[in-house]
Amino acid sequence: MLPEKVKVGGVYYETKTMPTVRINHDRNYMGACDYTRLTIEILEELSDERKEDVYAHELVHAIFNEAGFDEHDEDTVTRLGKVLHQVLKDNTNFFCNKKENDKRAKEKGEFNDNKNHPC
Ligand SMILES: [Zn+2]
Repeated sequence: MLPEKVKVGGVYYETKTMPTVRINHDRNYMGACDYTRLTIEILEELSDERKEDVYAHELVHAIFNEAGFDEHDEDTVTRLGKVLHQVLKDNTNFFCNKKENDKRAKEKGEFNDNKNHPC
């Protein structure tokens, strides 16, 4: 399942599942990352696994863009996207901050519902 949004650098990219994905009037794409509108578009008809694969690829484009790279070598993005997909999928709690979140919420007296927390 794709996240609704992802924070990359200082901005959030919103995920949009679309019946067609267009880049420069060409509609023959499975995904696209728009650095101006801050969206990652994914083709609706793809299988769930392919959606994740394409999403990881577009996420690498977002990461490269936020890191200041204007030119993205497509082969490099594809290779990194494949590995990023596996790393994100197989290590969901890699940098989990549950304890810090609990502590911060308690100090501020905020409601902290962890029932959907992955840990
Ligand atoms: Zn690409």
